[in-house]
Amino acid sequence: MVKGTASQGKRQKRSHVKCRRCGSLAFSIHAKHCVACGFGKSSKMREYKWTEKKP
Ligand SMILES: [Zn+2]
Repeated sequence: MVKGTASQGKRQKRSHVKCRRCGSLAFSIHAKHCVACGFGKSSKMREYKWTEKKP
């Protein structure tokens, strides 16, 4: 398997589109939910403490 720069040109299928709630390119077309905020899966925002920056 080639993962380097040469293989980047083959990335044409979009697995995620822009999310209506958080605006990031993380809404999965296949699963019909946003992997960034959880839109389509839960009414609450997808949040985790480990995403916060360490002090
Ligand atoms: Zn989202």
